[in-house]
Amino acid sequence: MTDVPRGNWAGNVAYAARRFHRPSTVDELRRLVAGSDRIRAVGTGHSFNRLGDTTGDLVSLAGLPPTVEVDRERGTVTVAAALRYGDLAARLHAEGLAVANLASLPHISVAGSVATGTHGSGDGNRNLAAAVAALELVTADGDLVTVSRADGDRFAGMVVSLGALGVVTRVTLDVVPTFAIRQYVRRDLPADRLDAAFASAYSVSGFTTWRSSTIDQVWRKQLADQPPPPADWLGTTAADAPLHPVPGLDPVHCTAQLGEPGPWHERLPHFRLGFTPSSGDELQSEYHLPRAAAAGALAALAGMRDRIAAVLQISELRTIAADDLWLSPNHRRDSLAVHFTWVDDAAAVLPVVDEMEQRLAPFAPRPHWGKVFTLDQPSVATAFGRYADFAALLTELDPTGKFRTDLLDRYFPR
Ligand SMILES: Cc1cc2nc3c(=O)[nH]c(=O)nc-3n(C[C@H](O)[C@H](O)[C@H](O)COP(=O)(O)OP(=O)(O)OC[C@H]3O[C@@H](n4cnc5c(N)ncnc54)[C@H](O)[C@@H]3O)c2cc1C
Repeated sequence: MTDVPRGNWAGNVAYAARRFHRPSTVDELRRLVAGSDRIRAVGTGHSFNRLGDTTGDLVSLAGLPPTVEVDRERGTVTVAAALRYGDLAARLHAEGLAVANLASLPHISVAGSVATGTHGSGDGNRNLAAAVAALELVTADGDLVTVSRADGDRFAGMVVSLGALGVVTRVTLDVVPTFAIRQYVRRDLPADRLDAAFASAYSVSGFTTWRSSTIDQVWRKQLADQPPPPADWLGTTAADAPLHPVPGLDPVHCTAQLGEPGPWHERLPHFRLGFTPSSGDELQSEYHLPRAAAAGALAALAGMRDRIAAVLQISELRTIAADDLWLSPNHRRDSLAVHFTWVDDAAAVLPVVDEMEQRLAPFAPRPHWGKVFTLDQPSVATAFGRYADFAALLTELDPTGKFRTDLLDRYFPR
């Protein structure tokens, strides 16, 4: 098939699969999984590392019917795994519903995002995987099984799966009533006001080039019925025209700013569906740190600000509330996520990533599973409290290793 991605969105990974598949029924998928000795699912390919790769069969679920089934009594929606958040959001909003939060872009698939613990921002918002109430998946022997919160702790181990426990066919998500957001962009936040900025609204992001300690832009996404920030808010100035987070790029790619109210799905992401998110020519890394250690971790990185700035397009700071999912970067930890959009030059970026990881080591950094990181296996094992339980689940559900990849073998050696 030609309509399965042959590499990731960023273009830094060419998938090594021998065969590419796009089944149109779940039965076809079940036969594929049962008959393959090495298989992975791919979503929209927005990860920056080889997590979604395989040397065997790569399967896209984009050919399955794009179902969206709302259960108003339970307050959930059950969706086809390959559906993009942007497509789901429009359907939900039309029904008067929403999901609590979104990532910076709506272009990503629900199953792929959940599998890596993808997140947005907000002191009170958990990551997107925390909204998962149930999963339907094809397990290694081709069986179709459903797991839900009723399965307790084991379910908490299966949601952020890294794609390693089976091929997810349907995802059930918690929904809330639809809501409206106003987005204000403010400039030049003093670093010591960052906590106050995060606490000020529903979802807040800070953007910095690391050239100084000042946070160059704050994107404040507030519930529409809240009063706008005052003129002298936290020592910032108001942007008088829409901005792109990456200096010099066209804000036409971005969601509406200047306080214009709009539905949640057209304000919570930074980037608009149908437009290129971010810069498009980039690599990304991201580390989740304990919120309580945020000041120390940022100070540690400030000690290498010139090295970071030299290979950086933009850096984003976000907050995420703790959850219970075993491999979630936010497992039992309110978090500060420090994100880096690098220039597209791995040889220049990787030594900087390596030094950053050494500086962050005292804070037990948890990597974004879908981005570029070089941490060693013991660091990852120590940072995730339920690491050993997930490793055991991996062996139990995939005894022959058909869903494994080199990256999984590195971090969860057999
Ligand atoms: C421009 C840009 C902006 C981004 N912004 C954010 C952000 O704001 N917040 C954030 O947290 N991340 C962000 N990311 C990272 C992105 O959210 C994650 O990499 C996410 O996993 C992408 O989803 P995907 O559908 O592209 O997954 P893919 O990259 O296709 O796959 C990711 C993983 O999911 C697995 N998978 C996919 N589908 C299935 C399935 N059906 N069953 C089982 N496993 C499956 C794959 O095997 C793989 O291991 C950004 C990425 C880009 C390119």
